[in-house]
Amino acid sequence: MHLPLILELSTALLSILLVFFFRSSNIFFKLPANLSFQVPVNLTSDYGRIIHGSPAAVLKPSSPDDISLLLKSIYSSPLHNDVTVAARGTGHSTHGQALAPGGFVIDMRSLPLSITIVDGDGTSYVDAGGGALWIDVLNETLRHGLSPRSWTDYLYLTVGGTLSVGGISGQTFKQGPQISNVVEMDVVTGKGEIVQCSEQENSDLFHGVLGGLGQLGIITRARIKLRPAPPMVAWIRVKHHDFDQFTRHGELVVNSGEVDYLEGFIKFGDAPQSHQPKNAFSRFGAERCVKPRQPTAYYLLEMAIYYDDDDVSDAAKKRAKVLARVSSMTSVEILEVSYLDFLNRVREEELSLRRMGLWDVPHPWMNLFVPRSQIRRFHDLFLRTMSDSCVNGPIIIWNLNTSIVVPQDEAGEDVFYVVSVLRAAPPTCTVGSSCLDGLMQQNEQMIRMATARGSSHGGGGMGAKQYMPYLQCEEEWREHFGQKWKRFEELKSKFDPLNVLAPGQRIFKRRKPLKASAEAGEL
Ligand code: FAD
Repeated sequence: MHLPLILELSTALLSILLVFFFRSSNIFFKLPANLSFQVPVNLTSDYGRIIHGSPAAVLKPSSPDDISLLLKSIYSSPLHNDVTVAARGTGHSTHGQALAPGGFVIDMRSLPLSITIVDGDGTSYVDAGGGALWIDVLNETLRHGLSPRSWTDYLYLTVGGTLSVGGISGQTFKQGPQISNVVEMDVVTGKGEIVQCSEQENSDLFHGVLGGLGQLGIITRARIKLRPAPPMVAWIRVKHHDFDQFTRHGELVVNSGEVDYLEGFIKFGDAPQSHQPKNAFSRFGAERCVKPRQPTAYYLLEMAIYYDDDDVSDAAKKRAKVLARVSSMTSVEILEVSYLDFLNRVREEELSLRRMGLWDVPHPWMNLFVPRSQIRRFHDLFLRTMSDSCVNGPIIIWNLNTSIVVPQDEAGEDVFYVVSVLRAAPPTCTVGSSCLDGLMQQNEQMIRMATARGSSHGGGGMGAKQYMPYLQCEEEWREHFGQKWKRFEELKSKFDPLNVLAPGQRIFKRRKPLKASAEAGEL
């Protein structure tokens, strides 16, 4: 029989057995009432559409207590000794990170929407539920003339989902990633304990959960720093033909601190001609197959300057200063848009891709942090690897000077580039097809070269790190975490000792409870 079919059948059989098991164990163990054994199909995969796996049941919590009850029951029961649990925000992961095949998925969007402004020590904060969308946080804070400082490009992601990975965008070089803008959280640990944590209180959990890939606990509330919201944004794109000049200009602008946002894109072919007045720049441009050949590559430096309607002359001065830094460039486009439209810029593109049937397709995405000294090498590797492929989807490349799990390899380097190759496969390129396999292999080839040890460690690689890594086993994760691994492992043992949480990250194997292992003679 065909291997995928056998796997599918055995997963289905396993799910039936587990449903039976959970239902009968419900008689003996207290499980939350709002568990459903009917799993909606959209919870069996994610935005990537590469990895599939159905949970046996879905919890739709009405409060953090429901989450705590489920995790406590699993932690204290020797019978539930293979069961895993994944919190799921909007499932915008691309490699199965929010899945729990045969286990429980907690649908964080079911928690009542809770977004409250809090004033304290001269700064304003927002308390947002872990399942709240960033667009909802933005809309609510804007009603008070306020806004979080650090963003992701796309806002239909949950607070808990992005704080589990880091949360980065063009504001990061100035404001830090989203995880640097959180001052307090409520977390349900793998043992089911509800813990409030901050820099001062339970600080190991606080630091470990931020960017902790859902391994230590489930975020049910985060307190996030706010700033006054600027009404308007000057959104600027400057076209470059030379990669070195593009990176030089980007670094000059970042170091000057004169803009509020900076990202960059590699584009191929002719820039699309538009005769319509524009109200947004496009990044996806997914309709065309463009082959990334060196002579047709060009580079867009995208910047934003926030300003107040009352202070137009100040904004004009700032803009003139920035443009003077990239003065040799002739192709400069500027749009004036509202702050909300700027931050929510990917939404229109999403809706347009949905209309074309190009949103719900496989997304073999790849995200890397590449040390500054290696970015030219990576650029050349990228063009070489993909020279005969279609590139539909944005290729984002920009510099950042703060850290999540950052390259530690190249001696003394603290500046690195974020490289995001965000390709969409054609709708026909489904799992198991040679076209999807081909795209994945290209990614693997680039990731292997980029993440191999760099010259300061006697290697020929680039010392890059993956952002939201797609790795297969503990060994690869050890390598990824490097010096941080030991600490991460210790925190995992403390807060999720049975390795129940976020199995889709493939970091730790589920452990049996001590008692069950001893009875089975495994100790
Ligand atoms: P999910 O995919 O549902 O979950 C992700 C992981 O976090 C899983 O392991 C899950 O178990 C865990 N998790 C979910 N909720 C919680 C919680 N409350 N507590 C603890 N763990 C939890 N990322 C950026 O940094 N910058 C960007 O600009 C950016 N743009 C994106 C644009 C698009 C179109 C897409 C699809 C993704 C983008 N991402 C970006 C990636 C995105 O931030 C991550 O995939 C994020 O994890 C998705 O959030 P989610 O709510 O969908 O989480």
